[in-house]
Amino acid sequence: MHELSLAEEIVRMVESSAARDHFSRVATLKLEAGALAGVEVAALRFALEAMVPGTCLEGAAIVIDEPPGRAWCNACATEVTITTRADPCPACDGYPLKVLQGDALRVVDLVVVEE
Ligand SMILES: [Zn+2]
Repeated sequence: MHELSLAEEIVRMVESSAARDHFSRVATLKLEAGALAGVEVAALRFALEAMVPGTCLEGAAIVIDEPPGRAWCNACATEVTITTRADPCPACDGYPLKVLQGDALRVVDLVVVEE
């Protein structure tokens, strides 16, 4: 499962910032999984929750935002919202569109427990 390796990567990244920045517990991990990132958010959450016991993320709130896909249509010269990378422009059926936003999975915030 794709989400399992993404979750592993996220946990590894947070653990290495914990080692670097000397914290041992995280209160909130906030992620952004764009609608075009190809990530199944429920599966990602499930994989993360299965992995966090024994790490600095144990007990942390995991927040996953799902920003919509935004793209630029050259034909209309407008920014439009799309739900998959293969979508044509919703206004003019133009294709291809240039993806502007919503195609990434990333950590947007990490709130650390002060000790
Ligand atoms: Zn268009």
